Amino acid sequence: MSLTIRYPSFNCLFYDLVKYSFRCRFFYHSALRWFPTFGLRTIDAVIITHSHADAIGGLDDLRDWTNNVQPSIPIYVAKRDFEVMKKTHYYLVDTSVIIPGAAVSELQFNIIQEESFIVHGLKFTPLPVWHGRGYRSLGFRFGNVCYISDVSEIPEETYTLLEDCDLLIMDALRPDRSSSTHFGLPKALEEVKKIRPRRTLFTGMMHLMDHEAVNEDLAKLMDSDGLDIQLSYDGLTVPVKL
Ligand SMILES: [Zn+2]
Repeated sequence: MSLTIRYPSFNCLFYDLVKYSFRCRFFYHSALRWFPTFGLRTIDAVIITHSHADAIGGLDDLRDWTNNVQPSIPIYVAKRDFEVMKKTHYYLVDTSVIIPGAAVSELQFNIIQEESFIVHGLKFTPLPVWHGRGYRSLGFRFGNVCYISDVSEIPEETYTLLEDCDLLIMDALRPDRSSSTHFGLPKALEEVKKIRPRRTLFTGMMHLMDHEAVNEDLAKLMDSDGLDIQLSYDGLTVPVKL
């Protein structure tokens, strides 16, 4: 459930460092599988959505990345998630604890607020959402693309930030119902009807989602509701204007 953006001034950028898939379970595997396919080599920035284990677990893979592939990587993260990283990945945050002579990672942590910030000339606007009761996760908008990977409820004030959206990439975990931390397909569809993006791709689906059958049903929404909605898949490339 991660996204890589290629933009003229930088090569790529990841939101979540773990990918849900039987073929690409973690960032390391995703990088091995997809970086050569798309001719990617370096990571110019990493933006963190939230600090659950399946969103930041791949951080450790960046440790050796800065020793072997490129000298450093900037990480953009909310303060509350940085506090979690200080515990889960303390050796990446405070490199003074590393034994002298050992390979030290070069990750530069930039704390973001719930307001727009610029990365390599591209503006990102956080889309604050609930991911379980009382737990904040961030989606991000860049240009007219909105990405919300983990959500159980969209607060009223975030809908304004979703207006005039060309492409919405959004969480839809189960085919039958929502869970306490994720939209299920029925709720995700309800939200798409409210947001009215020009195109929608669902992401983060579990194995109960029959890809072909669900896509066939979703395609019918074009005629009935004028909505272009499909399920995404590993390795999907979408050209967008930014
Ligand atoms: Zn999560």
